[in-house]
Amino acid sequence: MSDCIFCRIIAGQIPSTRVFEDEHTLAFMDLGQVNPGHVLIAVKKHAANLFELDDVQAAAVARASTRVARAIRDAFKPEGLSVYQANGKAAGQTVFHYHVHLLPRHEADGMELTWPVKNPPREILEGYAERIRKKFA
Ligand code: AMP
Ligand code: ZN
Repeated sequence: MSDCIFCRIIAGQIPSTRVFEDEHTLAFMDLGQVNPGHVLIAVKKHAANLFELDDVQAAAVARASTRVARAIRDAFKPEGLSVYQANGKAAGQTVFHYHVHLLPRHEADGMELTWPVKNPPREILEGYAERIRKKFA
């Protein structure tokens, strides 16, 4: 039996509350329910993080997320919806099986994601961009 908790959920070996599935993804309720209607979309074939997804999985997650997000919107009428996805411990990932959070949002709901902006000059941006662009060459 896998020691990955989401693989075990996908295999039906431990309970989950499912809302949607297709060939490549499973959507189920996050136990934490930051706000009512908080859903996770996980890939069915184990991938630890974004970097391990193949193109078919990546497309399937995008499609499922869009469909489930609309269903959450229609069911719960939130004021907003955040899409959250963590890769690696430093990024806040706690379950190392790729998943996307769909989080219904409301004004002053206590969920905070703050980041210290640096606003570097354009030449610094160009240098950063060139480092990334080179990887596509
Ligand atoms: P992350 O920090 O993005 O890795 O978040 C992992 C999420 O998985 C958390 O929001 C947990 O509440 C959720 N979670 C952990 N175990 C389960 C489980 N057995 N069923 C549903 N959600 C879970
Ligand atoms: Zn897994």
